[in-house]
Amino acid sequence: MHDLQELLDNNARWAESINERDPEFFAKLARQQTPEFLWIGCSDARVPANEIVGMLPGDLFVHRNVANVVLHTDLNCLSVIQYAVDVLKVKHILVTGHYGCGGVRAAMQDQQFGLIDGWLRSIRDLYYVHRHDVAQLPTEEAQVDRMCELNVIQQVSNVAQTTIVQNAWHRGQALSIHGCIYGIKDGRWKSLDTNISGLDQLPQQYRLRPIG
Ligand SMILES: [Zn+2]
Repeated sequence: MHDLQELLDNNARWAESINERDPEFFAKLARQQTPEFLWIGCSDARVPANEIVGMLPGDLFVHRNVANVVLHTDLNCLSVIQYAVDVLKVKHILVTGHYGCGGVRAAMQDQQFGLIDGWLRSIRDLYYVHRHDVAQLPTEEAQVDRMCELNVIQQVSNVAQTTIVQNAWHRGQALSIHGCIYGIKDGRWKSLDTNISGLDQLPQQYRLRPIG
């Protein structure tokens, strides 16, 4: 069992070790943050954003929720995207899922889990669309893992279809959305080769002209 004092002690050692390497590190960060990446990932404790990609404090702007879902009515996630794109002017948005995601698995089961069922509903809809293809896979694990990939691909589209991202492209701002997935079993983070970096990659029905 860990207790709070252990975490406080860990923190003191961590801050001290960074100070030894670069005495100006925290002073520089305190003045401003200039991350080039927005990470949208799962809340799962086994998927720590910075550690996985070897980034220091200040390098990643991060939003995490259960099953890395991007909904067009979620003010929390949309506010993070808006601030990252409009104010911080990140160059890349990394939507990162992970294999064996409990949220994705829950959305595939015929059982209630409570309030979370509503949050995961769009993944259940996605599973319904892909149910025949997914059912071809031999094991439950393989089926969940495929849905984890399909969920990332869907969320990349959802990010790209926001008016926030579309308006950045209308302004000529360089911005790319990438779909990635992390393997809890092997620690490897890989690209799903799903990249959207302009309006021409969106279906016509989702391309929106700015107001005015
Ligand atoms: Zn997860």
